[in-house]
Order: sequence, then structure tokens, then C-alpha cells
Amino acid sequence: MEIRQLEVRGYEEVYRAHDRRSGLLAFVAVHDTTLGPALGGCRMWHFSLEDDAVEDVLRLAKGMTYKSAVARTGLGGGKSVIVGDPRTQKTPDLFRAMGRFVHTLGGRYVAAEDVGTSVADMHNLRAETPHVSGLARDKGGSGDPSPFTAMGVFHGLRACVEEALGRTDLKGLTVAVQGLGNVGWDLARQLRDAGVKLIVSDVNETRVRQAEKELGAKVVSPADIYGVTCDVFSPCALGAVLNDRTIPQLQCKVVAGGANNQLAEDRHGEALLDRGILYAPDFVINAGGIINVAAEFAQGGYDEAATTQRVRNIYNAIKDILATSRKESIPTSEAAVVLAERILADARAKKGLPARDRALTGLER
Ligand code: NAD
Repeated sequence: MEIRQLEVRGYEEVYRAHDRRSGLLAFVAVHDTTLGPALGGCRMWHFSLEDDAVEDVLRLAKGMTYKSAVARTGLGGGKSVIVGDPRTQKTPDLFRAMGRFVHTLGGRYVAAEDVGTSVADMHNLRAETPHVSGLARDKGGSGDPSPFTAMGVFHGLRACVEEALGRTDLKGLTVAVQGLGNVGWDLARQLRDAGVKLIVSDVNETRVRQAEKELGAKVVSPADIYGVTCDVFSPCALGAVLNDRTIPQLQCKVVAGGANNQLAEDRHGEALLDRGILYAPDFVINAGGIINVAAEFAQGGYDEAATTQRVRNIYNAIKDILATSRKESIPTSEAAVVLAERILADARAKKGLPARDRALTGLER
């Protein structure tokens, strides 16, 4: 396997790996390990350009640093991506090669399941390295993190509705869910149980038909989901969906969803505020999965009841951020970054480390 280090300002370590035998082309980014080992998902996606894969891994790794800091998991931030189509290009050999790549970082990066990868894929990584989390419960892990992510989004969404609409229940509200994968489906089910009317979209036709049948959801095309009239828009597919093209189309009061890196650029947090739309910062509202995975590292081992309580607490974390945003007249996305940077700065000061370059803070590189 050919492994090459890429120098990226503001990141501790970034590597590219190419393994001819298995066909693996992958990147690992370790953004910050001040608070602990850099834990972050291993994503598989068919990027058409290598640069797009690098851009994604960097953005996602930094997002993980902030997410873990605010969720107080005691972990740092990192991420990895495998370039390839998860529907057609997955092989056990590919993930074993990825495991060998992850192992070369000596535990500074710890992998987990993400978009395009499954717990089964993580077991193939585990055959080559111990630095994998989120394995099946019967293998000593914390299991699939997605239900915990969905649970956290549900409670964070409740906090937003309370703030924006002055309502403590969700009954009769309309929520538009973009993406019905592991997180989106589970969230949609909880919303339906709470009496919400659902509008959904997914590029996977089977999924939307299932939502129509089982959840009574109204289905719209992936292009039309942004403009539907609803109380809450919930992005649960891919990143950068809140941008110059989509924000003017939104007809909602709240954006609260599970996807990572929803804002295409930091300034889009301001654009949402200008439109009077309350945005739940992604890395705060979707921290349920990482809280669950981090519980594997807790003294005394994994405890589901304690984890569930911490995930429900996302409701309070969102409330705190909304209060900071209101008090300091800054977008919620900025309030969340301010909070994360404050936690990191305190930890760096305690360890006697130099302060981070302020020019490199924020979710953009
Ligand atoms: P997933 O792959 O299971 O689901 C993604 C879904 O989005 C799929 O059904 C896919 O068909 C659909 N999709 C893709 N492009 C779309 C488009 N243009 N329009 C509509 N639907 C589209 O992934 P997941 O685990 O559910 O994760 C969803 C998002 O949540 C990702 O951004 C992920 O990074 C983030 N996230 C997931 C977790 C977790 O625990 N799984 C934790 C934190 C954040």
C-alpha cells in the first residue's frame, strides 16, 4: 500500500492511501486530538474527483472535533473517506486494506460506521486493527449509532420547535425529511409517532415508497423538498444542502436534521437568520451517535441507560446554544462554534498547549 502525507494547515495529520491489490483509494484526516483520540466515521462515496474527497474528509474531520467538544465525549476529531460506489464496489478485501491503513495511525484516528458503510464493514476493518468503534453489541461494541443519532435529532428538533413556534408538542406539525437512510428513517418514524405529518424525499425509490406506505408520508422529488411548505425542514442525507440556491426556496420556520456539514459555507448560518429560520447546528443536534460510540471508552464499559440520558440531553444543549445566539445576536451556527472553541481553548490552556490560530477556527477551512 502506498501512503502519502498531505500537509494541510490547521490539521494535525492528513494521509492518502492507495492499495493496488484491493483497489482502495482512501483518505484519513486527523483534525485535533487535544481532547482525546480523533474519532470519526469512515465514509464511502463515489467522488468523481479526488479533490472532492479531500475537501469532504477535511470538513468532516473538523466538524467531528467541534461535535465531540460540545458533546463532551472526551474525544478529538477525525474522519476517513473511501472513494468508491458503496452499492457496487464493496469487498471484504477493500475494508481490510482500509483497516491496515487506519492501523498505521497507531490509534490517533479511530474509525466508525458512516454514510455508505455498515457495522459489517467495520468488522472487516477490525480484522486488521483494534482502532475501530461502533462494533456490534455481541462483539463488545456499542452497536449501530444511528438510532441514537435519530433520538438526539428528535429531542433537538423539539427544543427548536419550542423556541420558534412556542409549542411543547409536535402534534399536527409538518416536517420535511430529506433522506430516509439509517438516521432519516428512524427520525421519521419517531416524528410520525409524535403525530407529525411527514413530507419525504430520497433518491432511493424503494425507501420513499416504503415511507408512503408505512409512515403515511407524502413523497416529493429530491429537487422539490427544499420548497415545500412545512414547519421544519430536516436534512438527513448529505452535506452542503443549505446554500445560495436552496436557502431562498425554504418555506419553514426551523431547520433541524441529522446530516453533517449542512451549511455550504459559514455565511449560510447568517443567511438563515436573515430569513427568520431557526437553524439547529448540525454537529450539536446529530451528536447522539458519537455520544453512544464514546460510551465504549467510558470507565466500566458501555452503559445504555446512561447513554440514552446523555443523548436526550441534546435538547438542553440546543436550548443553551439558542440562548447564546439570542444573547450575543449571532447565528446559532456561530454560537455552537464559539462554544466548541471555548471548550478546546480551555483544554489546551490546561495542557499548556499554545492557543489555536484564530484564522483557522470556524467550520470553513
Ligand atoms: P445513509 O446512507 O443510511 O442515508 C442517507 C440517505 O440519503 C440514503 O437513503 C440516500 O439514498 C439518501 N440520499 C442521498 N442523496 C440524496 C438526495 N440528494 N436527496 C434525498 N436523499 C438522498 O446515511 P445515514 O447514516 O442515515 O446518515 C445520514 C446523514 O447523517 C449523513 O450526513 C451522516 O453523515 C449524518 N450522520 C449520521 C450519523 C449516524 O449515526 N448514522 C451520525 C451523525 C451524522
